[in-house]
Amino acid sequence: MSADHMKPKALKALIRTVPDFPEFGIQFRDITTLIGHPEGLMSSVYHLAELARAGGAQKIAGMEARGFIFGAAVAVALGIGFVPVRKPGKLPIKTIGIDYALEYGTDRLEMDPDAVSTGEKVVIVDDLIATGGTALATTELLRKAGAIVEHALFVIDLPDLGGAAKLRDADVMVGTLMDFEGD
Ligand code: AMP
Repeated sequence: MSADHMKPKALKALIRTVPDFPEFGIQFRDITTLIGHPEGLMSSVYHLAELARAGGAQKIAGMEARGFIFGAAVAVALGIGFVPVRKPGKLPIKTIGIDYALEYGTDRLEMDPDAVSTGEKVVIVDDLIATGGTALATTELLRKAGAIVEHALFVIDLPDLGGAAKLRDADVMVGTLMDFEGD
């Protein structure tokens, strides 16, 4: 690790916790304060990029919207391409999509099927893993497009919600910079 970069413990201190957002009982871990801090942003991207490089990333995929911030920056740091995984109806071409369960109801993610090549190693980057539903759906979608998905990286893990374990069951290794227990 370069001495010039903030360490994960210092990065964790830049996360703002907002109680009862978006609903009562949720501790919202807000990255706005992290990305507004120049060294905080740069160092988060640096650590994620080192993990992505170690994972053999040939392309980075990020989920709308906060995954775009970190994912695109990691792709630039490594000099590789970025795949936006989008909310429904945003892409102007014929997409492939996946529906996935939320606590209440379902959601959907879409991507350009030509954004990855068969056998290309794609590393997923998002701000936070909670239940893992979003990352698991993204893994399935990228695999449907022909990508090899073996690594997913997050700034924040909420380990009590079991998302990382769920991804490991799908043969995806999880890397995170910090965790918040008890949520
Ligand atoms: P999940 O599919 O349950 O892993 O949820 C992942 C997505 O929901 C992440 O991309 C986060 O942006 C958002 N999210 C879930 N829980 C929280 C939380 N406590 N604080 C901030 N964002 C959250």
